[in-house]
Amino acid sequence: MRTVVTKLGGAVLSDAAGFARALELIKSNPSRKYVVVSAPGKRDRADTKITDLLESLSNTSEREETLSHIKERFIGIATGLSLPDSVMQEIERTCMEISDRLAEEVSERTIEFAMSRGEYLSAYILAAALEWPCIDAREIVRFTLQGKFIEKVPEITLPERAVIPGFYGADPRGTVRLLPRDGSDITGACVAAIVHADVYEVGKDVPGIFPANPTIVEGPQEPIRILTYGQAEEMTYRGESVLHDQAISLLRAPRIPVRIFGVSEPAGSLDTYIVPDDDSSALTGNVLIGIGEEKNFTMFELERAGMNTSRHFTLKLLTVLSEYGVAYDHIATGKNVLSLVVRTKELGSNTEEIVKAIKKACRARVTVKSDLASICVVGNQLGSHPHLVGGLLQALEPLSTNPKIYWHEQSGTGTSLIIGVAATALPEAVRLLYGYMQSLKTS
Ligand code: ASP
Repeated sequence: MRTVVTKLGGAVLSDAAGFARALELIKSNPSRKYVVVSAPGKRDRADTKITDLLESLSNTSEREETLSHIKERFIGIATGLSLPDSVMQEIERTCMEISDRLAEEVSERTIEFAMSRGEYLSAYILAAALEWPCIDAREIVRFTLQGKFIEKVPEITLPERAVIPGFYGADPRGTVRLLPRDGSDITGACVAAIVHADVYEVGKDVPGIFPANPTIVEGPQEPIRILTYGQAEEMTYRGESVLHDQAISLLRAPRIPVRIFGVSEPAGSLDTYIVPDDDSSALTGNVLIGIGEEKNFTMFELERAGMNTSRHFTLKLLTVLSEYGVAYDHIATGKNVLSLVVRTKELGSNTEEIVKAIKKACRARVTVKSDLASICVVGNQLGSHPHLVGGLLQALEPLSTNPKIYWHEQSGTGTSLIIGVAATALPEAVRLLYGYMQSLKTS
């Protein structure tokens, strides 16, 4: 029998009805042997995710009220599933433990512990409903003592079937440590690698990965059918939140394919597969596949006559950045001008100081442009299709900002074309690029 690991996100498990749907889904396929879960997410737009509520417990003034709200949500789910008293007691006990630990000390460690309990209780409830074991994620997701996630998965044997909480693990002392937000995808990838899964499935409240952000591009979109790991990484890294990019790096070596599907979609609906980079089925489809986008970039423009003949110009610039711990995203050089793009959050509150240091080290005029956005058009072998690259850039002609494009760069592998635009122009730019992609299908 095949082994499938299924990760169910918070939007799917937001209430008892969502849990009931999940139970049906798991039972409908006996190959679904391992289920990794997130904490309950928002039930509607105005609602708050359980993880966010847990995080807010550091605020003493509303702690007891928030904690009883969290407890009620879990009790509501367990009651809706008609689970026995022992489950209600575990919910009570866990909330009490959170309260006690925070009363003793509010620290990064105790907050992380509190935040991990959303996934813990989700898994506990689902396991009770399935009558499967619930495995502590501390044995599966490991961190160093400094809290760095260890990508090498442990060699352990799991029971034949199990539910596992996502989002957390432990350091060698057994202290709970958290993965990044949306990190349950990473836990699922760890489990898939440990059990050598045939498929890693990610169940969502959307049918798969859409070619463009549906909050920007209106109207129905057909999910992307197939993507390579590399292409999916470009989509996720650039803000596409359907799968965490660190999850993909865990699946690459064991070559485990990923299926992203909508849990409420009828059987046989289109969904998205993510396959190894050399899988020929991924390389034969459309050249242009999807668009990822992200805001909050800043560009530094350095100007100095004859900059290109100075041997250490770029080295000096990068040394300043490294001294301030700033990673960069994009760099382009000409004869007298160099532009460098970073994620604005990398700069913290040090922008002015960094500009001063660059001016001193590089003896250049420096101008700073913030509020920029980066768009990543993901494709197949873009370098072999320059007319499509040209078509994409030309599609941005109607933008009213000046300049319309701040930078553009094709990755060496031809997997992506990155385009920088003003943040205000981002939605229109995404719509124009998507419109161009669609026009290729109909022409
Ligand atoms: N519950 C966590 C979050 O909201 C982790 C996850 O859902 O994957 O980020």
